[in-house]
Amino acid sequence: MAALVSGKITQLSPLVRRLLAPNAGPFTGPGTNTYIVGKSELAVIDPGPEIAAHVDTLLDELTGRIRWILVTHTHRDHSPAATLLKERLGSDVEVIGMPCDIEGASFDQGFSPDRLFEHHHSIKTNEFTLTAIHTPGHASNHLCYFLEEEALLFSGDHLMDGTTVVIAPPDGDMSHYMQSLSLLFDYPIATIAPAHGNLITDAHEEVEKTIKHRLNRESKVVAALLSCPGQSIADLTPLVYDDVPPFMHPIAQQSLRAHLLKLVDDGQASDEQGQWMLTK
Ligand SMILES: [Zn+2]
Repeated sequence: MAALVSGKITQLSPLVRRLLAPNAGPFTGPGTNTYIVGKSELAVIDPGPEIAAHVDTLLDELTGRIRWILVTHTHRDHSPAATLLKERLGSDVEVIGMPCDIEGASFDQGFSPDRLFEHHHSIKTNEFTLTAIHTPGHASNHLCYFLEEEALLFSGDHLMDGTTVVIAPPDGDMSHYMQSLSLLFDYPIATIAPAHGNLITDAHEEVEKTIKHRLNRESKVVAALLSCPGQSIADLTPLVYDDVPPFMHPIAQQSLRAHLLKLVDDGQASDEQGQWMLTK
């Protein structure tokens, strides 16, 4: 498996190259993967955070002509470099994604797509077909992109390598996330190219594993509500995330809220002024 090293473009398959952005951290793992699809006319997927050196490397080292910049979602580690790239490449290149009309510091409100994509919109060239799959859950405007010729899914943050995706309400939604995971079984995906970490083979197995992991966590939420009804999210977190180190608990609280809101959607739980309990 090709090493994840920033500053160097790596060929992963006949049609796919990767450039790792230098933004490693607790939420980004080794950093954001920028993918390049094609040989002559190119699509760049998730240009990355606002780091000029990353854009310089991309433009200096890339052979072929960038025609499209595709964004999986508008978290700040994924889309801001689209604006930098567009400034450098001008009207020759088209920025594509779903709009960002979401408030909050982690969202790139400056994202300004030339073309809005929806579910099953696609780009077709002589070399490849890339089809958008709308996968809300981690972010409401999240798109995965399926590369037909290589049965490869650019999963953005819908699935990550070796770590669980944070679902942070209100934009993050656990019910939608679970539906968006099941949706992937409709596509003949062999390999997943996540925005963080290495390629994942056995794609459908990975999706099954992720669904199972989430349902297990949901069972722990139900068990905690059963044994200690009427507790706050802060009190429930150590019970539900007893396998997660305490320094991660502030983040885990966001996913716990997402699980609780899903249980409310499912008619299984309710919230009385921040005190959570089962309804039956
Ligand atoms: Zn994200």
